[in-house]
Formats: sequence, C-alpha cells, structure tokens
Amino acid sequence: MKVYFIGAGPGDPELLTLKAVRIIEKCPVILYTGSLVPKEVFNLYARKDAEIYDTASMTLEEIMDKILYAYNKNLDVARIHTGDPTIYGAIAEQIRELEKKQIDYEIIPGVSSFTAAACSLKKELTLPELTQTIIITRMEGRTPMPEKEKLKDLAKHESTLVLFLSINLLPKIVEELIPILGEDFPIAIVYKASTSEEEILTGTLGNIVEKWKQTKIRSQSIIIISKVLEAKDFAASRLYDKNFFHKFRKRLV
Ligand code: SAH
Repeated sequence: MKVYFIGAGPGDPELLTLKAVRIIEKCPVILYTGSLVPKEVFNLYARKDAEIYDTASMTLEEIMDKILYAYNKNLDVARIHTGDPTIYGAIAEQIRELEKKQIDYEIIPGVSSFTAAACSLKKELTLPELTQTIIITRMEGRTPMPEKEKLKDLAKHESTLVLFLSINLLPKIVEELIPILGEDFPIAIVYKASTSEEEILTGTLGNIVEKWKQTKIRSQSIIIISKVLEAKDFAASRLYDKNFFHKFRKRLV
C-alpha cells in the first residue's frame, strides 16, 4: 500500500503528467482538494469503482482517517493536489503523519499554476541581464510571514515576483510596492490559468487596483510583478549566441 501525492496541474486536464494519469488509473481510493482541483481533471482516468473523497471541508485528522482506512484494507491512495504539490501544497503535515505511522508514500510533481500563468501571458520569467531570479511568495494575511521575508524586502531585488494566495490583498500589495518599485512597474494577474474560465489582467502598480475592482477576480489567481512583462529591448540568451561555445556547440577549429 502506498500514498501518492500527485500534482494535478493548474486545471487543464491535459496538463496532468503521464505518471499522474497512470497512478490515478490504478488507485482504488482518491482524495482530492476539491476547492482547487475540479473533479473533471482526473475523473476521466479514475477507476469506475474508485472511492473518491473531496478533502476541501476535511481536517487533517479526517484526511488521515481516510488514509488509515485505505491502509487497513491495503488499498493505494491517490492524494491529488493542485499545481505542483511542493508549492503551498500543505503536504508536509500529511507526510509527517504518514512517517509516524510508517506508511509508504511518493510525491509526483505537477505543472504549477505560476508557470501556467506565465505561459498564458506568453512570457519568460527570467530574461538575461534584466532578472535571472524568481521569488515565489505570498502577501502576509492570516498566515504570518517570517520576519526576513516581508514583501517590501523581497521587492528590493527587482527580481520577478510571483504571488500565490494573495489576490484579495492586491490593494495592500500595491501600497507596499509603489514606494520601492514605482507607479509604472508592470504587473499581471492570471485568474484560473489554463482553464476555460481563465482571465488575464495587466497593468502597472499605479493602475491595477482600479482595473481589478471592475472585474470579478477574487480567488484562484497568480500575480506576477516583473520587468519581464514589459521588456522589449532585452539581451538575447548566450545559449544560442553564434559567438558563444559550449558542450553542445563547439568551436570548429
Ligand atoms: N500547489 C499549487 C498552489 C496551491 S496554493 C501550485 O503549484 O499551483 C493555491 C493558490 O494557487 C491559489 O490561491 C492561487 O494563487 C494559485 N492557483 C492555483 N491554481 C491556479 C490557476 N489555475 N490559476 C491561477 N492561480 C492558481
């Protein structure tokens, strides 16, 4: 018996990995985060006789009860999470319980919603000489941020900032960032990236709140704040530079 933590990707059923599909196909018990993963994403692949539970309203104890029930019957469990399970997946506390009980588990990566959002925006998040760093974070809300990770401090790097779980704090984000990055700094919001309900909103720190207030976007969004969103005059990567040689393209002399 094994518990498989599976990244189900951002919502498009075609963005599951082959490995995820193969595991879902064989698991008799499926637990999924219904608040973020629509059943349609995996239903197609689930066994007809699979027991399927939505964990959205469950506590950690209730989730563990379901896993223990499967363990006692020697049934494999597909534990389906949104995006990639290692990013804001709340898998660590489940893993801690599994380890206490010596229950075997494996983690299957998924396409994170932040890369899906960048793809929807048709942007590369790392541009040579502009920024080579992506900071993945969230705005402080009910979950406090570690002292050294305040948004204001992270923003000073002027790297690509990716914010999860923060769309309803947009006015506060903007208020904190304008003194550091300026009113004209580019920002983009992608709601339900990769799904049929996807919406994109772009602007600057100075105008995004007004634009956002006119939309209904209040959940499930990725916020990207970065110069790469506007950059037109950037340096090309050295990887394909005709004067730059490397292991796969050697100088012919
Ligand atoms: N593990 C997930 C993140 C889970 S936290 C991942 O890698 O994507 C939940 C947050 O993820 C949401 O509040 C939202 O910020 C983001 N999110 C999840 N699915 C999304 C989607 N399809 N489009 C935009 N943001 C999404």
